[in-house]
Amino acid sequence: MRFKDIEGQRVLINHLTEIIDSGRVSHAQMFLGPTNSGSLALAIAYAQYLNCENRQHYGEGSELRADSCGLCPNCRKYEELMHTDLHFVFPNTTTSEVTSKPCSEDFQAEFRDFLNEYHQYGKEDDWYTQLGVENKQGVIREKDADNIVKTLALKSYEGGYKVVVIWMAERMNRECANKLLKTLEEPTDKTLLLLVAESRDRMLSTIISRVQQVVVPDMGMGLSEERRMEYARLFVSWMRLLFKLEMKTLSDWVEQTAAIGRESQKRFLQYVQESLRACFLKTVAGIALPGELEFGDEKFDTFFPTMITVNNIEQMNQAITDAMYAIERNANARITFMQLSFTMSKLIKKR
Ligand SMILES: [Zn+2]
Repeated sequence: MRFKDIEGQRVLINHLTEIIDSGRVSHAQMFLGPTNSGSLALAIAYAQYLNCENRQHYGEGSELRADSCGLCPNCRKYEELMHTDLHFVFPNTTTSEVTSKPCSEDFQAEFRDFLNEYHQYGKEDDWYTQLGVENKQGVIREKDADNIVKTLALKSYEGGYKVVVIWMAERMNRECANKLLKTLEEPTDKTLLLLVAESRDRMLSTIISRVQQVVVPDMGMGLSEERRMEYARLFVSWMRLLFKLEMKTLSDWVEQTAAIGRESQKRFLQYVQESLRACFLKTVAGIALPGELEFGDEKFDTFFPTMITVNNIEQMNQAITDAMYAIERNANARITFMQLSFTMSKLIKKR
């Protein structure tokens, strides 16, 4: 799949291609987002772009700064999901054909059909229907981990990156996850492990700490104009505070943010992440802020993006992702936002 075929997510996509072009690809990443956000399609398009032999870069004013070509031998094989260096691992279970010790290897053809049928936007339930096991819950077991380790240790067939996509990575059982730890820590050259998950809740913390996280926002975030303006105001005042780090005003801000409720806090953090990515793209690639992410403060719109660079963007993304997770887990909002403020303040000065 090419990026252009994915719905929305333009800021995130531009961020991802920028990172790949700058040669800073992290060998293990987790795309986190609800199924309808396109997290799986994004992971596959990301791998295709990485392997494309003729990456396309577009001029100013285009929605996407770059995309894979769709025509080179690697792209063609990716489009058909038949690339020899692209592997899929997913929840699986016994079926009428596979009656014992199932693993993803047993269902590759079925999984490709599922990907094609739902254009890579299928839900977990759709997958079980495809397998004919509606009432069962799939698991990713140790045998799958063994195969992943073996696959990544082999030489790449086509000379590019070897890629393993683990869809619904939260279905990995403990044995499987533990087996993967070493691979996550000591990657072999030119290998890429892409975990796709809806939530980090059921994931071992040892896995989480070893992968770079890419939060894929809900489609369009569904923000009303009013809400967006509220978030923009909150964001601008927060970022200004981070430069001065004046305790009294900062704790007022934290108090105000703690009062908006958990759901709104999570959406605000998604908004912050999108905004920072947009600022990063403005700084490094000269891409103008999308209309809906302008802050409505000319001075800030001009000056602030210059603070977001390759030296801090990924760490900021990570810090915000961690805060979203804490809020999801009912952590104290005041403490979470206070700690996040200290981290962000340090990072912003690292530019
Ligand atoms: Zn290509």
